[in-house]
Amino acid sequence: MRMRVLTVVGARPQFIKAALVSPRLREVAQEVLVHTGQHYDYELSELFFAELALPQPDHLLGVGSAPASVQTAAILERLHPVLVQERPDAVVVYGDTNSTLAGALAAAQANIPLAHVEAGLRSYDRTMPEEINRVLTDHLAQALYCPTAAAVENLRREGIVEGVVLTGDVMEAALARAHPSPDLLQPYAVEPGGYFLATVHRQANADSPERLRGILAGLGRLSAPVLLPLHPRTRERIARFGLDVPANIRLLPPQGYRAMISLERYARAVLTDSGGVQREAAWLGVPVYVLRQRTEWTELVESGQAVLVGTDPERIVTAVEEGWARPQATAGRPDPVEAIVADLGARWGK
Ligand code: UDP
Repeated sequence: MRMRVLTVVGARPQFIKAALVSPRLREVAQEVLVHTGQHYDYELSELFFAELALPQPDHLLGVGSAPASVQTAAILERLHPVLVQERPDAVVVYGDTNSTLAGALAAAQANIPLAHVEAGLRSYDRTMPEEINRVLTDHLAQALYCPTAAAVENLRREGIVEGVVLTGDVMEAALARAHPSPDLLQPYAVEPGGYFLATVHRQANADSPERLRGILAGLGRLSAPVLLPLHPRTRERIARFGLDVPANIRLLPPQGYRAMISLERYARAVLTDSGGVQREAAWLGVPVYVLRQRTEWTELVESGQAVLVGTDPERIVTAVEEGWARPQATAGRPDPVEAIVADLGARWGK
């Protein structure tokens, strides 16, 4: 019998990461893929399964959107019988969403070993729901796959040293295979370097009329069109709060992965509160401004590639127009997928 791994995914960035790891994992293991249904809109979910050829899920938990506790509880309740039925040798979770935490907790309660991909990240801001998910998941995991040396160090400070592996970043490996192209800018009628790209979906921003208003005002004062692919949550809040969208901002639906990477690659600068988008832009050598007070990707800020600008319009405009960010594209590093699959095999292979 081959090693049996149950992977839990539920949100866009997890589909992107699993699309890279799952095919390789399936060469050496039996994988059961569980989709919690945390993201369920076509553009946030199915689109990625189709575009990235992610295998179809074996189990759809269909939890839908709900407050964090309710969503976490719903996943736990629905995942338990799946774990009992499938009896995997290990559970793999990605990142920092409610699906990550619920997958981790369900595994721990069923006494099944847990591997966490993207372990060790810390923003040290416990008001971010993602921070709680990261900390708890790391403390439940037996295998902790860290994207950076800083993540390894964060874990060491919390007393976690066993099972910690510095693998590199799966998101970076995905990007390396994405091949951005200026041809993909055609539908947006923009030229390379002639526009800004922005995304906004963190709860702290989307749920606050003041912060959202500040971001829109800042983007509205930039000296070129701003393409803003909008997460459904943010779109709904802009409407609910009755916020004006300045004329240079073009609201777009959530984009497919390759289109998004191409938009990032040829933007004059990227403004985002996303964890994934900020590092993709940095890796691509595009100036990036982070619409938050803190980031879990501290090395990007320390190296000057990303600049934290928060949500104050004045600060956003000044930072971007004065070119505070110091872009530097990063060259390819060792393949994290091989490191993850090899470690899973060494630990739980038979
Ligand atoms: N992304 C995408 N289309 C979009 C916005 C983002 O394909 O319209 C990709 C982006 O390139 C990155 C990932 O989604 O690979 C980041 O996910 P998200 O911003 O939802 O989550 P976070 O990284 O903040 O957890």
